[in-house]
Amino acid sequence: MKSVRVKEAQMTESGRPHEGDLRLSGPPSGQGAGGGARTRDRKVPADLRAELLATMPPTPRFCKVVKKREENMPADTSYDPNSLPDLLPLYYKRLFPYGPYYRWMNYGGVPKHYFSNREFSFTLKDDVYIRYQSFSDQQDFEKELQKKCPYKIDIGAVYSHRPKDHKTVKSTAFIAQEKELVFDIDMTDYDDVRFCCSGADICSKCWPLMVMAVKILDRALRDDFGFEHLLWVYSGRRGIHCWVCDETARSLSSQGRSAVAEYLQVVKGGENLVRKAALPDKIHPSIRHSLQIIDKYFLEYAVKNQDLLECEDKWNKVINIIPSDNILPLYSVERDYDLL
Ligand SMILES: [Zn+2]
Repeated sequence: MKSVRVKEAQMTESGRPHEGDLRLSGPPSGQGAGGGARTRDRKVPADLRAELLATMPPTPRFCKVVKKREENMPADTSYDPNSLPDLLPLYYKRLFPYGPYYRWMNYGGVPKHYFSNREFSFTLKDDVYIRYQSFSDQQDFEKELQKKCPYKIDIGAVYSHRPKDHKTVKSTAFIAQEKELVFDIDMTDYDDVRFCCSGADICSKCWPLMVMAVKILDRALRDDFGFEHLLWVYSGRRGIHCWVCDETARSLSSQGRSAVAEYLQVVKGGENLVRKAALPDKIHPSIRHSLQIIDKYFLEYAVKNQDLLECEDKWNKVINIIPSDNILPLYSVERDYDLL
C-alpha cells in the first residue's frame, strides 16, 4: 500500500523522452492490511481509529506554513493562459536564469562541445514542436530564446554532432552519446493509493506521497548508487523530476539505465495489467530503508489524510495491490521491521 512511483526517462533520439515505468513500494502496515473483511459496510471501530490518530505526531511545520501563506494570498491569484504570449517575452528577457542554466549544461566546458552538441526542443504557440535546436554558447542560446519565446523547453541528449547540423551528417553517424539520468515522479500514477484526488489533481492530503517518493529516491540514488549531483525540480503541475547529473550517470548506456530502474522497481504491471507490489520473502536492505522513511508518514497519510480504514472498499482497493501469496509472509516482515 505504501508506495511511491517513479519513471525513468530513457535516453532516446527523440526530443520527448520515452518513459519506462517503474515503481517502488513497501508492504502495508499491520493495521488494516490483515482484516480480510467480507461485509460490505464493515467499518473499523471509531475508537481504534481515534487511538491510531492519537499516536500520530503533531501536524508538520510545513503544513502550517502553507496554510498561513494561503491565508495571506490575494483573493484573485488565478492564472490566465491568454496572457502568456504577452508575459513570455518579459520572462525570457528579465527572469530566465541564463547564467546558472548555461553553467549547468556546459559542465565546466569539460568535455568540449558538450553544450553545443546538446539537443533542445521547443514547444511553441499552438503546440508547434521543433526539434534539433542547438546553440554554440550562452549568448546564442539567450538570443534564440528571446526570439522564439518557447512555451516549453525539452532538454535532449548530447550528440556526436551539433543537432542543428544533423541534416548534413549521415543519419548513422548522428548518435546520442550522453544524457542525464532522469526520473519522473508523477502524481497520476498514485490513484490506487489515494482517494482525495485522481489524475493530475493534487491537494495537501495526497502531496505527502510526493514527499515520500522524493526522500526514498534521493536516498537510494545517493547511498545505493553513490550519485552526488541530483537536481530536483517541481514540474509546475503534477509531479517532480530528478536529474542525476554525475558523469557516470550521464554516460550510462540504455541497458545501464534500465538496470538502475529495475533495481528500484517493486510494483510490477502496467496500464493493461493489474499492478502488484511483488515483495520477496526477504526484504532487500534498500526497501527496508524505504520503509523507515515511509513509516514516519504512514499514519498521517493513510489513516488521517486518506481515511483508509473508513470502509471496506477503501482498504480492499489497497489490499488488492498485494499478491495473495505475499499477504501471509507480510506478517513476519512486519515483525522483523519492528525490530529495526
Ligand atoms: Zn489529493
